[in-house]
Amino acid sequence: VKKNPLLIHRREHAEALLEKYDNFLFDCDGVIWLDEKIIEGVKDTLEFLKKNGKKFAFVTNNSSKSRQEYLAKFSSLGIQGVTKDHIFPTCYAAVQALESDLQVPKKSKIWVLGDSGIEDELEEAGYIPVGGTDARLNQAFRADHEFLTVDPEVQAVVVGSTKEFNYMRIASTLQYLLWKNKTIPFIGCNIDRSYPGPNGLILPAGGSVVNYMQYTADRDFINVGKPSKVFLEAILAKNGFDRSRTLMVGDTLYTDIKFGNDGQLGEGCGSLLVLTGGTTPEYLHQFLQNPNHYDEGESMIPSYVIRSLGDFVDIIQS
Ligand code: PLP
Ligand code: CA
Repeated sequence: VKKNPLLIHRREHAEALLEKYDNFLFDCDGVIWLDEKIIEGVKDTLEFLKKNGKKFAFVTNNSSKSRQEYLAKFSSLGIQGVTKDHIFPTCYAAVQALESDLQVPKKSKIWVLGDSGIEDELEEAGYIPVGGTDARLNQAFRADHEFLTVDPEVQAVVVGSTKEFNYMRIASTLQYLLWKNKTIPFIGCNIDRSYPGPNGLILPAGGSVVNYMQYTADRDFINVGKPSKVFLEAILAKNGFDRSRTLMVGDTLYTDIKFGNDGQLGEGCGSLLVLTGGTTPEYLHQFLQNPNHYDEGESMIPSYVIRSLGDFVDIIQS
């Protein structure tokens, strides 16, 4: 049985992390920012790590925005030195899965249930998104709607989070998932149930959309987001990161921490849980009392815990 995580609160703890890891994979929502606001101290911590020669990648399960849009978000929050190559949202992971794992030819049509980030990344890679944010799907259900007849050129379905989740979109997506005896590839961008939104609200995340479609179509999806091992391998490979010198920092046990821990081949990635997002100290305490009570609980025990990523720089300079 794995032992409890080490709480990072003294200088020697922070120094040990700096010694042990060269590369940092950061979850975004709940770690770097909460919705549109940067978390206090995070900018200073990132600058400190960078000054010490550390390498970064940002890995978000949110599929709503393209890498290009995230680039603008990092810049508007005053986080310097981030390029498109550092950013891994799951709309991009979906496109990578189409290209590499599923080998779907370029110029294929891909049916989308999700926000514009998926459409933008598909287009950038040379695919043709259909459905998605098309305004013709905004109307109330009509059994004679043009999108209820499948387009035979569609080669795969990608589902992610959307605030435009209406019956027309659900029904049209279902036609593709059932088509050809349910054999068309079904990609789900992420499995997150909810995320911490503005004003302290907990809001439905992409996983609720994906699981709705899984249930109604009665078929499994390929999860391309955290904790997918394929996603981790792709990020490590693209950045040339050595897994034993890489630390995953996240706020969610069943996505981020499992993602970091599942990389364990040989020494494995480390995992650092922050408490500024979806995991409260009370929940963590309850979880650690009996991890085996949770599905695959052992794989969700973080190596380390810190109250906030923003505290790191204060702790190391104390
Ligand atoms: N926002 C939305 C709409 C999401 O669907 C998700 C994840 O599913 C998130 C935010 C959280 O993303 P992350 O915490 O991985 O950055
Ligand atoms: Ca998060």
